[in-house]
Amino acid sequence: MGVGHGGSCGIGSFYDPCKCIQIQVQRMGYDIERFVGYVNEGLLCCICRDVLENPLQAPCEHAFCTSCIHGWLVQNHNCPEDRQALDVSMLRPLFRYMRNDLHRLQIRCKNRQHGCETICSLEAIDRHERECEYSQVPCLNAGCTVQVERRNLESHLAVCEYRSRECPNGCGYAILSADDAQHNCIAELRTELELLRSEMICKIEEVRHEMESRLDSQRRHMVQKESLLQNEIEELKVSINLFIVIIL
Ligand SMILES: [Zn+2]
Ligand SMILES: [Zn+2]
Ligand SMILES: [Zn+2]
Ligand SMILES: [Zn+2]
Ligand SMILES: [Zn+2]
Repeated sequence: MGVGHGGSCGIGSFYDPCKCIQIQVQRMGYDIERFVGYVNEGLLCCICRDVLENPLQAPCEHAFCTSCIHGWLVQNHNCPEDRQALDVSMLRPLFRYMRNDLHRLQIRCKNRQHGCETICSLEAIDRHERECEYSQVPCLNAGCTVQVERRNLESHLAVCEYRSRECPNGCGYAILSADDAQHNCIAELRTELELLRSEMICKIEEVRHEMESRLDSQRRHMVQKESLLQNEIEELKVSINLFIVIIL
């Protein structure tokens, strides 16, 4: 594992962590090439020139993707289009009618080049892409780093080296497909047995220890009791002697 893993934004993160996070997490604008039909100029971001994504509007009515305008305002304090004074607190959501127009735009799935022919409204595209059969998904088996298109997951799982199945000889172990050839029921069971045996020995030791200490304390108790009784006997002897003396 290399040093500095996770600091992939380098020097930028040192100077401006907020900006760095935005660039990493948020996309900027939807590529206009993905849209079917005419897109109104007013629905384009003034900064990236793509179709507005998470739009915000300035008082001058210019509209931007959230990440675009936040990035801009880190170093500037005006609207990039007309230079009117602007800061983050002045930004507002898009007018409702514009938002509706935006949501109704027809966009192609981002997996088009992989074969997805889906075209749907911008409002619904995120949901589609989350479930798209052509989206890359990680294999479900622990330890496997393979990514496949969702529609191919089933067939990958059938041949994945990290899939496991129960031992057909009935030893009760799940065998990783990759370890199939090396699996030896007797060796597995022997290891298990050794483990159980050492656990058992530990337990027995514990119980023995506990019994011994209990016995010990009882013994001490008895010794005390004995000496008490001894004293009582001595006292009784004295009284009896006294009694005899008196009677005689
Ligand atoms: Zn933008
Ligand atoms: Zn403006
Ligand atoms: Zn799709
Ligand atoms: Zn796999
Ligand atoms: Zn087995």
